[in-house]
Amino acid sequence: MAKKENSEEIYNKARQVISGGVSRNTVFRMPYPNYANSASGCYITDIDGTVRTDFANNMAALIHGHSFPPIVDAVIEQLKKGTAYTLASEIEVAFATHLIERVPSFERIRFMNSGTEAVMAMIKASRAFTGRPKIAKAEGAYHGTYDFAEVSQMADPSNWGKEDQPSSVPLAHGTPPCVAKDVVIYPYNNIERTLNILDKHAEDIACVIVDPVPHRVGLVPGNHDFIEALYAWTRKNEALLVFDEVVTFRVNYGGAQENYSVKPDLTSLGKIIGGGFPVGAVAGRADVMQVFDPHEKNLLLPYSGTFSANPITMTAGYQAMKYFDSEAVQQLNSLADIAVKQIREAIKLAGVPFSVTGAGSMFRIHLRPDPPTTYREAYQDKEGKKLVNELLDYMYYKENTLMINTFSCMLSTVMTQKEIDQLTEGLFRAFKALKPK
Ligand code: PMP
Repeated sequence: MAKKENSEEIYNKARQVISGGVSRNTVFRMPYPNYANSASGCYITDIDGTVRTDFANNMAALIHGHSFPPIVDAVIEQLKKGTAYTLASEIEVAFATHLIERVPSFERIRFMNSGTEAVMAMIKASRAFTGRPKIAKAEGAYHGTYDFAEVSQMADPSNWGKEDQPSSVPLAHGTPPCVAKDVVIYPYNNIERTLNILDKHAEDIACVIVDPVPHRVGLVPGNHDFIEALYAWTRKNEALLVFDEVVTFRVNYGGAQENYSVKPDLTSLGKIIGGGFPVGAVAGRADVMQVFDPHEKNLLLPYSGTFSANPITMTAGYQAMKYFDSEAVQQLNSLADIAVKQIREAIKLAGVPFSVTGAGSMFRIHLRPDPPTTYREAYQDKEGKKLVNELLDYMYYKENTLMINTFSCMLSTVMTQKEIDQLTEGLFRAFKALKPK
């Protein structure tokens, strides 16, 4: 029998054919990434034979962990009937109905293929509806890889600009300068500064985009007053308030927006609603969503995608969301509450100056004694990043625990107290071993 190759050997080959050896930077790891062999429930096994507990869940996308039986069974049935048609399918309508019944702000929906695409379509719909060119987004917030959504993402201190006027820094080299010109950056959770900034562009802003618990900004929930102030500003200035819930839809049965008294005009979705398959969606007010409507004499936003609403994703997503009912959401969030409490105890016992933020089934550990409240506070300098990577490596190699590379966890419904104890005991050992001097 031929010798089975290990991850290092495959990576050496990968580097010859895939740029950098990986198709997504999130799986990149020094000295080489491990290749998955199989996964089931909350465990993932690589081709080198190591089994790890999976707290990353494909970057927050797997709400029921891996190979959830009801999804697997339904997808197998659908596979036999075809994977993609140049016809609409009934399952798309059933799934759309489920999502619309789930969230009060959803009146119409359109499916697409990724969170990036959902955010792009949401921005385009806002521009088409208002006839305005600009968008406003929070400093440092991640919303996928559409040029406009990337502005100010991962900005480093040399580019921040003043606190009352954060800079519109494009991310990718070569981004046309006109992109940054049409993106207004506001400081998250700071009402006064944000409204001052928005006022300067009042007649040009199509939408104010908010992630209600933005990961890169520190996984800090949006203050009620802040979100309400944005809503009031958008009403007064005839702009739209749009939520990016690609990640945060898991926070409540009706998404993180359930926590607020105001309803967004549009919402972008992705990740968990695909049941483990690539997905995106935009949902919201019927009159705004009309920009997509091919019936309209005045179709404002022609929009299509070869694989949008494909029956495999629709089948998997529908199953995933049906099983993520109110009771499942509550149970999962309670487990996360316990996890956060235990991690805070581990921090105290280990005597490290760390803190934890989060919402629902997501949490993030920060290397600072007080939880950050802004992107600038959550930002890790070179030293901080080095320590985060060492802690993540400790968890990965010594504790066989896979976390998200910002030192975060996204739980799944198949996890139990056993996995939480394993995580917190592992973190305690990592904190003790790598305690900052
Ligand atoms: N918005 C947010 C808030 C995200 O976190 C992400 C992905 N992590 C996206 C959009 C983009 O989603 P995708 O990776 O599916 O393109």
